[in-house]
Amino acid sequence: MTRVAAATTAIAENLAEKLQADGVQVDTFTDARYGTNVRARYPLENSSESASDNKQLLIIGHIDTVWPMGTLAQRPFRIEDGRAYGPGIFDMKSGVGLAVFVLRTFKKLGRATRRPVTLLLTCDEETGSHFSRELIEEEAHRSKAALVLEPPIPGGRVKTGRKGGGEFELLIKGRAAHAGNDPRGGISAITELAHQTLAINAMSDYDVGTTLNVGVVSGGVLCNVIAADARASIDMRYSVVAEGERILRAFAALKPVLDGAKVEIRGQINRPPLVRNPSIVKLFEHARELAGYIGFELGEGSVGGGSDGNFVAALGVPVLDGLGVDGDGAHAEHEHIIIDDIPRRAALLAALIETI
Ligand SMILES: [Zn+2]
Repeated sequence: MTRVAAATTAIAENLAEKLQADGVQVDTFTDARYGTNVRARYPLENSSESASDNKQLLIIGHIDTVWPMGTLAQRPFRIEDGRAYGPGIFDMKSGVGLAVFVLRTFKKLGRATRRPVTLLLTCDEETGSHFSRELIEEEAHRSKAALVLEPPIPGGRVKTGRKGGGEFELLIKGRAAHAGNDPRGGISAITELAHQTLAINAMSDYDVGTTLNVGVVSGGVLCNVIAADARASIDMRYSVVAEGERILRAFAALKPVLDGAKVEIRGQINRPPLVRNPSIVKLFEHARELAGYIGFELGEGSVGGGSDGNFVAALGVPVLDGLGVDGDGAHAEHEHIIIDDIPRRAALLAALIETI
């Protein structure tokens, strides 16, 4: 439902109504292109062990999915062999549900938390959070830590590292000419694109986690015309902050190989990396201990994809990501969650809310 603003707005309004009925302060933020974000503030219930730093605990999720409208009708929700299937259930409707139900339980029981809790549900995570980023960062500044309800790594491990990245567009100008009558009179933008593709591939450094992928190319009009234009879309990922700067410098320094060709690069780094630093390790160790009390082993891992947690971690706020329900098939047709995992993830989330 990503890219359909009306759809995420409908979900957001439905959620906002339910949260309001729980007696929580709810605000919504709407953009005509992206849809609606929901923010719910859970005030501090009376606690003798309140944190003294006036910081909140931030819980983050997203309500958009990668699936086009109508997918739910083709693949409706179903339960089979202890698994629940449905578009967006793993990434990350079940995580949103988990957070809402756990916080509702705190509210109903008047259960104490050490700090106020803010739940932030964004509507454009799958397309890079262009609309939500500002709100995420604003809330991050007020936060002691953030818990992200994105799906875990299949098998249940939480995510303590994520790559950052960006999307770029390479635009090449050559000069058209008749391929038969005047082959030397043209400048092939496609040949230039081939040179540039090799140069961009060479910027990858797998040892430190930097990868570049020229993923889509187009150019030319007819095979008997030397191509005047060509373009490429490039996906860039990196794990180390300095690598992002290196790639931006390398892009800026791209020079045409063919005489008379022009090369232009557009785009930017969209998400900084979520770097596994000591404060994130400490948060993970805390969660692992709590999981041990609950009765399961919590593992960790790093992944190549980014999330809204990346924005928070880049501001120096510790993030524990991948706290959603275990399953598999994010962005794939076999997307599902494991039903038996729901209670223990809920217990872990509750224990984290109570102790951070
Ligand atoms: Zn997600």
